[in-house]
Amino acid sequence: MKAAVKTAKGDFEVKEVETPTIPHPDWVRARVRVAGICGTDLRHWKVEDPHLEGKIVGHELAGEIVEVGDEVTDLKKGDRVVVETVLGDDTCEWCRAQQYNLCPHLYEVREKSVSRAFAEYVIGPAKKFYKLPDHVSFEEAALLDTFTVGLHAMHVTNLSLNDRVAILGAGPIGLGQLQLAKAAGAKALITDVLDFPLQVAEKLGADVTVNTKTGDAYKSVMEFTGGRGVDIAFECAGGDALPTTLAQATSFARIGGKVALVGGFDDGPSTFTLEWQRIQKGEIQIIPSASYALWGIYPEMVMCLDLLAFGKLDAKSLVTHRFPLDQINEAFETAEDKERNNSIFVAVTM
Ligand SMILES: [Zn+2]
Repeated sequence: MKAAVKTAKGDFEVKEVETPTIPHPDWVRARVRVAGICGTDLRHWKVEDPHLEGKIVGHELAGEIVEVGDEVTDLKKGDRVVVETVLGDDTCEWCRAQQYNLCPHLYEVREKSVSRAFAEYVIGPAKKFYKLPDHVSFEEAALLDTFTVGLHAMHVTNLSLNDRVAILGAGPIGLGQLQLAKAAGAKALITDVLDFPLQVAEKLGADVTVNTKTGDAYKSVMEFTGGRGVDIAFECAGGDALPTTLAQATSFARIGGKVALVGGFDDGPSTFTLEWQRIQKGEIQIIPSASYALWGIYPEMVMCLDLLAFGKLDAKSLVTHRFPLDQINEAFETAEDKERNNSIFVAVTM
């Protein structure tokens, strides 16, 4: 099959590799149709990383079942599916409790199977492939991973009706977080350093948008909340923005409020300057949110699939660019230079 393989320099080489075969009777094989480029993938773009060299990556995908194992009963060839790539080892204490997003072996397990989206085929346990209603496109479904990250953050922070929230970062994650907050009955202010994604945010229902390069976000937050600060600030920018956005998020939260860590951190120790006395005296809770799993009896991704199917989430407005797999390096360049390209979600199609 054709696949995009990470090179030593951290970009991709599209070449023929061995097609994966089903190793267990309860697994399936799917033809990938659309794969998204995530912030995590972008942080590793053109970065030399011996761990990734020669590997196939990508974890936001939708496609079509082409083969099922002997024990698979609820999926068949031709079914259109979204693939959940949060996959644990199924043996640890966290996986036993269905908290597989916290599995200590999450990354090594998923990267051997479902987390290999930039290729023609993927394999994985049938339980991680959810059927799509006919009216949900592959492209829309490829955004479900992004949306579900936001849903989990909403769950762990216990977002409630009429909450005032701030969302820092209007990339795919932030724009998903925004839509979920609005669907849950909260009022939302969203910030970014670029105008284009803020225009999209406005269209998606943001109550207030602030470009932090040109506007005073703190002042806007205080106006938005009657001088109190927000009930929850969601840090959705991650990466290089974190020293700024994490400090902003904690300053935006009200006394007794919460800060959700949704955006991605880099490996190893990081140092951030925060107003720790205000955090302590105000009992501001900093709440980490990691991927997603189940909530009650429901897979959080299936909850998002329902919301998308019922029109409560708009995926189409987030897709700004599409590239075939052969042009994956161009796709990454486009996703990386957001300012120049007005890019939000870049889809790789196959
Ligand atoms: Zn586990």
